[in-house]
Amino acid sequence: MPDAAGPARPPLPSRPGALPQVPPPRTGYPAGPQGSVPQYGAPFLEEGPALPDDLDALEALVKACTRCPLHATRANTVFGEGHRDRPAVMFVGEGPGADEDRTGRPFVGAAGQLLDKMIAAMGLRREDCYIANVVKCRPPENATPTPDQAGHCLPYLEAQIRVLRPRFLVALGAAAAHALTGSQDGVARQRGRVQRRGDIPLVVTYHPAALLRNAEYKRPAWADLQLVMARLRNG
Ligand code: SF4
Repeated sequence: MPDAAGPARPPLPSRPGALPQVPPPRTGYPAGPQGSVPQYGAPFLEEGPALPDDLDALEALVKACTRCPLHATRANTVFGEGHRDRPAVMFVGEGPGADEDRTGRPFVGAAGQLLDKMIAAMGLRREDCYIANVVKCRPPENATPTPDQAGHCLPYLEAQIRVLRPRFLVALGAAAAHALTGSQDGVARQRGRVQRRGDIPLVVTYHPAALLRNAEYKRPAWADLQLVMARLRNG
């Protein structure tokens, strides 16, 4: 039975660079497909372990993180980058690919170049936005992060959102949608409308890599981004 009070919050690191004693991701919500592994999603984000309200300190923790097996095969962690104080839009993708793993920067490969074009088409600059992923280390073979991997990494994303206070969240692809909405529905069922994550409006749309593979996704993706633009224009 889950502990109704939830796990005790771990202490913050006592010195720079020290890792917090983070418990395994679990609270009182349903077991995931691997039995003891929780579903990933908003409930975990809201109950995640305490992390510092400072992006540099968070990034240092991520660089040293060994909470899930993805640490063993990474070249670099990919924390995220962009406007650090209330960005117009925070885009959240799935995880780093080969180019991102090599450079330590998010969305710098072919999908990133398309994302840059999408941002420009919205009348924004990349530096107006913040770009991050659900997991900060590259899954081998560019696999979709497992719920276990995503669950271990989500506290960092949650802390980033808390510190950044983006005006709008855009979930790029199913993994980000699952993580940010808590729904296991796919993109097709979640896109096309403005949802909320706490007090932050949120739109789910296709990942740029999916747009590169399937041109028919471009029109609905543009419609989703227009929802964001309209909401930003109206305050
Ligand atoms: Fe840590 Fe996230 Fe990297 Fe896993 S993916 S090792 S939880 S930073």
